[in-house]
Amino acid sequence: MDETKRVKAKEIPASIKYEAQPRSRLLPLPLLSPFPSLRFSLLSPLAPPCAPLCSIPFAIPSRAPPAGRRVLGERAWGGFVVPGRQERAPWDGVIGPRALEGWAGMGRVGLGVAVGCAAVTCAIAAALVARRASARARWRRAVALLREFEEGCATPPARLRQVVDAMVVEMHAGLASDGGSKLKMLLTFVDALPTGNEEGIYYAIDLGGTNFRVLRVEVGAGSVVIGRKVEHQPIPEELTKGTIEDVFNFVALALKNFVEREDGKDETRALGFTFSFPVRQTSVSSGSLIRWTKGFSIEDAVGKDVSQCLNEALARTGLNVRVTALVNDTVGTLALGHYYDEDAVAAVIIGAGTNACYIERTESIIKCQGLLTNSGGMVVNMEWGNFWSSHLPRTPYDISLDDETQNRNDQGFEKMISGIYLGEIARLVLHRMALESDVFGDAADSLSAPFTLSTPLLAAIREDDSPDLSEVRRILQEHLKIPDAPLKTRRLVVKVCDIVTRRAARLAAAGIVGILKKLGRDGSGVASSGRTRGQPRRTVVAIEGGLYQGYPVFREYLDEALVEILGEEVARTVTLRVTEDGPGIGAALLAAVHSSNRQQGSI
Ligand code: ADP
Ligand code: MG
Repeated sequence: MDETKRVKAKEIPASIKYEAQPRSRLLPLPLLSPFPSLRFSLLSPLAPPCAPLCSIPFAIPSRAPPAGRRVLGERAWGGFVVPGRQERAPWDGVIGPRALEGWAGMGRVGLGVAVGCAAVTCAIAAALVARRASARARWRRAVALLREFEEGCATPPARLRQVVDAMVVEMHAGLASDGGSKLKMLLTFVDALPTGNEEGIYYAIDLGGTNFRVLRVEVGAGSVVIGRKVEHQPIPEELTKGTIEDVFNFVALALKNFVEREDGKDETRALGFTFSFPVRQTSVSSGSLIRWTKGFSIEDAVGKDVSQCLNEALARTGLNVRVTALVNDTVGTLALGHYYDEDAVAAVIIGAGTNACYIERTESIIKCQGLLTNSGGMVVNMEWGNFWSSHLPRTPYDISLDDETQNRNDQGFEKMISGIYLGEIARLVLHRMALESDVFGDAADSLSAPFTLSTPLLAAIREDDSPDLSEVRRILQEHLKIPDAPLKTRRLVVKVCDIVTRRAARLAAAGIVGILKKLGRDGSGVASSGRTRGQPRRTVVAIEGGLYQGYPVFREYLDEALVEILGEEVARTVTLRVTEDGPGIGAALLAAVHSSNRQQGSI
């Protein structure tokens, strides 16, 4: 092309071939858009979703010489836009005959290609945008579920006070008649608690939850536990659904091995038996099982005297030990609490299950008219796990949980508070989020298996204070098969665990205040005894259980709620005293108090 002619495009004869010599190296195809501005305006606003297109060796002239003024041999310039990279590649060259033909040809071929490309790009972009929009909508759904759950679990002080009052009403009803309330308010026949003057060696068995314990306690006068030895063993799952004989054979054998290892002497010994299920006591050392809780279901045991069953199993092993005190774990805990501090008037368990007991005056136990005790009082086992009130903040997840359990419609309070259930409530919430919001990717399946999130794991999630929630990530990955949950999803999980924990701890606090109110120790005025308002007395509540002891955030929430309900001044008079292994050691102490060489107890 040695001669330059200025001609109008429409005047170029079809036979003449022109050439263009683009200089840009970025331009494999000096294409192609006769409508660069159209392309541009389509692509520019969608640039981020188009990012994957960067890799396509494709460029668009941002400016082509206007068709009417294309001139053969003229220098033309412009730029090429590489989609997604927001980058312009300079282009200039001399319009040769082929280029001009190219421009002209593009009027037909190029138009088709360009429109096709634009359509595909638009479709991809639209799909990506739609996906983003739907992901945002699903996240909003997860957040909405969280808010809904939080509102459903709300326990403002006013509601807690309603729970307190309901608890007091139910306590009165349960004391008035058997079956008068969901609170059974069971007699324990424990009318004397250890004083600190007990002496000797006593054994105890603590059966009633996840672990089974055998204990040896040596006590000396003056509230001194000289020695204690505790052995824990998990109860084999199959035994919790087998026969009464199997489970007590297992327990008796464990005790025999323990006694032989510890003492080896064949002496008759008093045994405290902590059996933490509802029992209708007939004396301090005997009673029949009312029903199972906490996942146990050994049908042939219901209605049987559990002390007798254990004594028979002990006899079968040839061990010279007999049940002297049959107690609930709450009663054992109160016994140890009272051993150390005579202001202890109640005990609460917050472990696998939850329950409470307290010292009641016999004249208030109306259902047992004429009940006489030396002390004028008796420990009452509330079985508060079965407490129910319409003021309890119940959510659809609590209903689902209840449906999953063998004791449906029972233990409603326990199912909101205790260790067996808290992890499961959180799992139910997370599972619904997984189904309705997709925030956990494909993990809906792994979240669908009941009881895969245990309460210790829930606690570990809530207590992860690392900036990137690395422990939460590990738990989600290892235990729930949710890999790579982003930080905001991990935060969501923490929040769910927090809501479950907070509600549980605050309801437990309301239960404790219910007991204080019944005893006239909540500073609220006229007590049930008729005592008028005065300076509230110091009150000690003995407390025990893996959930309470192992989960500091739970304790903080519980303390906070006590102050909110009672007010700071009264709350200061209430001490929650942890009694390590209280159920077992307390039972051994009660065995001492109630053994044949009976030692004087007090209440
Ligand atoms: P039990 O005597 O009824 O077997 P424990 O008092 O030993 O029960 O408590 C065990 C329960 O406490 C477990 O079921 C578990 O749910 C809960 N738990 C134990 N450790 C922790 C922890 N660190 N954080 C939260 N919950 C815990
Ligand atoms: Mg226990």
